[in-house]
Amino acid sequence: MLSDKIERLKEELRIEEQKMRNCKHVFGKHFFNPKNVREAYGFKMIGHGSDVWTEPEGYHDVQKPQWTRKCTLCGYEEHTDKEKPIIVGNEPDFK
Ligand SMILES: [Zn+2]
Repeated sequence: MLSDKIERLKEELRIEEQKMRNCKHVFGKHFFNPKNVREAYGFKMIGHGSDVWTEPEGYHDVQKPQWTRKCTLCGYEEHTDKEKPIIVGNEPDFK
């Protein structure tokens, strides 16, 4: 029965979600994982007279930087497109 299968999959999904929620994620090394975003590169004029507006025209895929890290225990993935400076700390200054 299909409905049995669906129920079984729902149960599996619930268990997997539970695992992910209870996981104290241990992330592996992040990796560069650029994403494609559709962006308009032009505009066209619509209407006439004083009733004129523009609409985006012509779309292309633009690659945006993104990084991904994956939990080595449960497979949970996190994505970010933000960067922060690495704080390198201090060292003795003998001057
Ligand atoms: Zn995890």
